[in-house]
Amino acid sequence: MITVKSFVFNPFSENTYVVYDDTREAIVIDPGCYEPQEKKELDEFIKSNHLTVALLVNTHCHIDHVLGNDFVKETYNVPFLIHKKEESLLRAVKTYAPNYGFSAYKEALPDKFIDEKDEVTWGKSQLKVIFLPGHSPGHIGLYNPEQKILISGDVLFDGSIGRTDLPGGDMDTLIDSIQQKLFILPDDVIVYSGHGDPTTIGKEKISNPFCALSS
Ligand SMILES: [Zn+2]
Repeated sequence: MITVKSFVFNPFSENTYVVYDDTREAIVIDPGCYEPQEKKELDEFIKSNHLTVALLVNTHCHIDHVLGNDFVKETYNVPFLIHKKEESLLRAVKTYAPNYGFSAYKEALPDKFIDEKDEVTWGKSQLKVIFLPGHSPGHIGLYNPEQKILISGDVLFDGSIGRTDLPGGDMDTLIDSIQQKLFILPDDVIVYSGHGDPTTIGKEKISNPFCALSS
């Protein structure tokens, strides 16, 4: 049984997820924690729930999703996984982080690349990797079919979609990713987005103003 815990971190109100199961093993997805208080909040949750962190994964490598990578990788001594096509975006973050006021940002580099058809496994659980380019070139979603859980990053939001004006973004590619890879999932799949509240595939399929399927 997988449990999804979310935190809202940094001035971009980014959702950080800790996903764990009955074995008490956990993965951390998109740690956006930057301020000491945010890192403490994440760590206290992990400790007080007796979780062992097994992996760090980024859905994509925009600054708001990577600020806490180094903290998680170093604190829990875990491998860090991204899609290969995000590596250049990740490496760019340290060059522009000070311009956004994150002068204390410390880069963590990936240990392994993951792609569609791979599975992220830990404890007794797994999440399938879905390649979802458009918001960024190597964006991935993470999907558990048994419990109908999707970690969607910045591809699909409750009533919105990811922006496509950043480097490597493309609107047609993003809409294709959503309609061809996500809207084929069951309607009752819960979508945990990179920002804002969770939604469902069914709701977005009929009402999302940017990508709903016309009937
Ligand atoms: Zn993003």
